[in-house]
Amino acid sequence: MKKLLFSFAATSMMLSCSSSQSTLSNAQSGATEDSKLSAVLWQQTSAEYEALCHQAFNVATYRLNIINNSDLDVIDQETGAAMVDQTSPNKKMAIVMDLDETVLDNSPYNGWLIENNKTYNVESWTEWCNIAKAELVPGALEFIEKATNQSIKIMYISNRSIDDLEATIANLKNAGITVNRSDVLLKSNDSKKIERREKVMSKYNIVILIGDNLADFTDGFDEELSINERKALIEKYRNQFGKKFIVLPNVMYGEWENTLKSNNNSDYIQNYNAYGLKKYIKTF
Ligand SMILES: [Mg+2]
Repeated sequence: MKKLLFSFAATSMMLSCSSSQSTLSNAQSGATEDSKLSAVLWQQTSAEYEALCHQAFNVATYRLNIINNSDLDVIDQETGAAMVDQTSPNKKMAIVMDLDETVLDNSPYNGWLIENNKTYNVESWTEWCNIAKAELVPGALEFIEKATNQSIKIMYISNRSIDDLEATIANLKNAGITVNRSDVLLKSNDSKKIERREKVMSKYNIVILIGDNLADFTDGFDEELSINERKALIEKYRNQFGKKFIVLPNVMYGEWENTLKSNNNSDYIQNYNAYGLKKYIKTF
């Protein structure tokens, strides 16, 4: 359920992502066409998008340097919390990175959907993955190289299907990132990433997590939450952002979008269009 690209298309909350989107009529999809176009244009053309990506990786690099030059049990001066959740001082340090819209830029796939008046489905997504030509998010390669040069392990946890593993590794290599198969943990059954994070933690101290979706950071965001519940969790973790949690921008899709269709939003089910979305807008 991770890749709910343009899931505004769904006609029922009970349907799966791909099946619901395949039942979409053109009239329904047209209601949010402008927002889809705007999202892709922003990622592909705005200098602000690139600036935010560099900002994220610059902060991550800064944190990397601090962590690498400190004792692992150093206390964060601002929060009083341990800088690193450390269960074993002998473990090597690792950084966990998501892939889509964190390392790989999939906006051409989203552009293809718009150009062809289609919505996300597994078949076209797999076709895009198999091309293995997604370019890198700005700043990602340089950051990965710096971390690797400092002997910090990079582990990739992504909700791409395990069936797309070979294509994903090929894509990373095409983009200049060499990875071992065992460093890429894709989705087999459960889209929740907690088990894969725990697998990494059994071997490494995770010092930084980098992603575009809040579920990339902690399992609290895996549950179906309301808009306000999600924001309350942000308050809980606010001191971790820019420190242990590094967020990349992505307005094309994500859990933020899924939240709009959940929480008993009947407008979503019966009238999922601009009217259904406008109930969330604040005005004066
Ligand atoms: Mg992602």
